[in-house]
Amino acid sequence: MPNRSVEAVYTAPSPHMVGDGFRVHHFFPDGVIQDKQRMSPFFMLDYASPFTFTPTDTPRGVGVHPHRGFETVTIAYQGKIAHHDSAGNHGVIDAGDVQWMTAGSGVLHKEYHDKEFAAQGGLFQMVQLWVNLPKAHKMTAPRYQELPAAGMARYPLQGGEIEIIAGAYKEMKGPAATFSPLHVYNVRLESDAHCTLSFPSHYNTALVVIKGAILVDDQLAQANQFVLLCNDGEEFKLTATENCIVLVLSGEPLGEPIAAYGPFLMNSWKEIEQAVVDFNEGKFGILSDH
Ligand code: MN
Repeated sequence: MPNRSVEAVYTAPSPHMVGDGFRVHHFFPDGVIQDKQRMSPFFMLDYASPFTFTPTDTPRGVGVHPHRGFETVTIAYQGKIAHHDSAGNHGVIDAGDVQWMTAGSGVLHKEYHDKEFAAQGGLFQMVQLWVNLPKAHKMTAPRYQELPAAGMARYPLQGGEIEIIAGAYKEMKGPAATFSPLHVYNVRLESDAHCTLSFPSHYNTALVVIKGAILVDDQLAQANQFVLLCNDGEEFKLTATENCIVLVLSGEPLGEPIAAYGPFLMNSWKEIEQAVVDFNEGKFGILSDH
């Protein structure tokens, strides 16, 4: 099997605001990758590159909104984020923590900067990833997994580590429960350290350079860039040219039709229409804005 090669290294598109708290670069779909199936089972990636927010007594964020048919995964690198949903779940994640929310049949939620963080202001950096659910699990009951930094699996490397959030590296498994085969890692390497990763060639695979710089297959990728890998092989090597953090995503494509409309992600337009009807009839529960 040949090595997996790099398809493209993309510079982050200009940021836009989601609510007033999330200044994000929208990598896919439609940002740098147009094809909604290209990164399946991952559907969307918004990246909030490091940005300093001024202090405020009114936390910035996004008010109550619905989701159905997928999972929202929030990875905090700097700053603190609070979450509330209509299934009764509530949590605050700090740098290094991850929140893995399964919207499934439907929730309302709101996402704000943590009150304490907002009051102090400061550097904020995070990723929000939408993981699509297989048809068989789209209407599963909502679930909330809070994954604190201390509970992550860490595979030690010479000059670094692989932090496993979901899936596995070699025999070591990450804490997140998922509905389809996928891997999410943070790879941390000191300058000149390297590691080799390997996923089945049909797994869609990409990287976000969160900090520092790396060589992937001899191509340089720097902080805030997105690397899309080809599906032409399994193994690829990362070599740090500076101390770095790299978010690694790899998963088996679901191979099912996608019907996407705003906060709903289903297999058909009929199911989208049903989601809109159910939302309008209040079937996603109740959540107040404040
Ligand atoms: Mn949301």
